[in-house]
Amino acid sequence: MSTLEPESPLALKRRARRMYRVLHERYPDAHCELDFTTPLELLMATVLSAQTTDVRVNMVTPRLFATYPDAAAYAGADRSELEGIIQPTGFFRAKADSLMKIGAALVEKYDGEVPKKLPDLVALPGVGRKTANVVLGDAFGVPGITVDTHFGRLARRFGWTTEEDPVRVEQAVGELIPRKDWTMLSHVLIFHGRRTCHSRRPACGACPVARWCPSYGIGVTDPVAAEKLVKDAPPAPATTP
Ligand code: SF4
Repeated sequence: MSTLEPESPLALKRRARRMYRVLHERYPDAHCELDFTTPLELLMATVLSAQTTDVRVNMVTPRLFATYPDAAAYAGADRSELEGIIQPTGFFRAKADSLMKIGAALVEKYDGEVPKKLPDLVALPGVGRKTANVVLGDAFGVPGITVDTHFGRLARRFGWTTEEDPVRVEQAVGELIPRKDWTMLSHVLIFHGRRTCHSRRPACGACPVARWCPSYGIGVTDPVAAEKLVKDAPPAPATTP
């Protein structure tokens, strides 16, 4: 892509959709990397994922979910026991506070169930738009764009937006990609950010969307060196005749 000529809104939309398609082909199984089986489990795991990795959250959630099987259990939790279980995720006092307050709010307002609407979710204590969109998309199948640190960085590198504010990024990208694809879009961008388009040293030389990316060259362009930077590289796609 030339960076010399201004890009028309239509050209931007076409380029964005092409990049999404190619990334989806690269990461066909992109998914939420938090372990969960119910909306409540996903909600609590997503709250715990702030400022830490999904891997670390997945280490504590088996015990957490077994100890607190429903919203009422969180509401009535023994604080020190709860803090002890989630301590490895960091900020455990604030997170324990959120989990207990969310449990209480769910019992009080929603009969212990997780609500399915964005305004209701973001009104829960400690639940922001990012968490709400994760729950809507992955627990309820409601399309949502999850702007985490990876998504925001990549949307800007792709030249899809210049916005820094996550809500504005969400709105700008929502104009480019069809609503039905929003949840998978979130997953593939987060996968790409974790595996290839790293915050430091992106692997441009091994990137499937390099030809459409105006930021190509900010990272390592040598194909061999770039390939070494790719984490969890998927097997090469089967070639079709
Ligand atoms: S070309 Fe480089 S900056 Fe652009 S998406 Fe790929 S890895 Fe990221």
